[in-house]
Amino acid sequence: MNIQRKPEWLRKKVNPGDQGKMRQLLGELRLNTVCQQALCPNISECFSCGQATFLILGKNCTRLCSFCNVEKTAPLPVDSDEPARVAEAVARLKLSHVVITSPTRDDLPDGGASLYVATVTAIRNASPATRIELLIPDFQGVVSSLKAVTAARPDIIAHNVETVPRLYQIRSGADYRRSLDVLQACADLVPDIRTKSGVMLGMGETEEEVLQVFRDLREVGCAYLSIGQYLAPSRRHYPVQEYIRPELFESLRLQALEMGFSHVESGPYVRSSYHAGKYA
Ligand code: SF4
Repeated sequence: MNIQRKPEWLRKKVNPGDQGKMRQLLGELRLNTVCQQALCPNISECFSCGQATFLILGKNCTRLCSFCNVEKTAPLPVDSDEPARVAEAVARLKLSHVVITSPTRDDLPDGGASLYVATVTAIRNASPATRIELLIPDFQGVVSSLKAVTAARPDIIAHNVETVPRLYQIRSGADYRRSLDVLQACADLVPDIRTKSGVMLGMGETEEEVLQVFRDLREVGCAYLSIGQYLAPSRRHYPVQEYIRPELFESLRLQALEMGFSHVESGPYVRSSYHAGKYA
């Protein structure tokens, strides 16, 4: 397949919809989203429906994943007012389900766990009925940070393994086993929190390697799974190796469900937080 040219199933007709309300709110409350920072292809759809994934702890990442568009410059000091502003946005948008994530902050002793906790607390106080999903970094496997975020009792904790272990050189600073251990620790620390992970396809992995990742995730108690097509944010990023056909996404979804995942979203445009409210 010629990877210079996207196949027809990836030529999404973008309806810009009404994104103005969302963009105005984000500007007014000085909030970042991964939707904007990662150049997510679903941004028109999500923003016009009042959905966004909030990026706390600034927009600069301390790691150098070669597939990711989040900025890799020096991180800024933690903004202790940010949780209150996120909570205000959640309340004003009347979100029934919210996803909170952050860049990796290896510069902070707790990896930013305390700001995740403060954000959960602020949202719970302002919008008690909202389901809260935290998409966390690996906190370098620091157990006290994992204990803190699980003790805050979000409804879902997500941590993406992103790709198969053979390709982890593109996740600089990450470790496949450590990511699995993070998911295991979250499931062990608070058994009624559901855990979730995500993989991107088209990076050079084989189908068998992907299925082994699914088995590994089930081994550590992972309940939810997202499977999407990797799209390089620019020519400077890790190049797409393959465009995966929709039929294979569907086949992988069915195989993952057979392995025991409770809910699986799988398709070319699926992202970790895409249709996040559907996972049940
Ligand atoms: S799929 Fe997730 S990251 Fe992408 S625009 Fe929607 S909410 Fe944002």
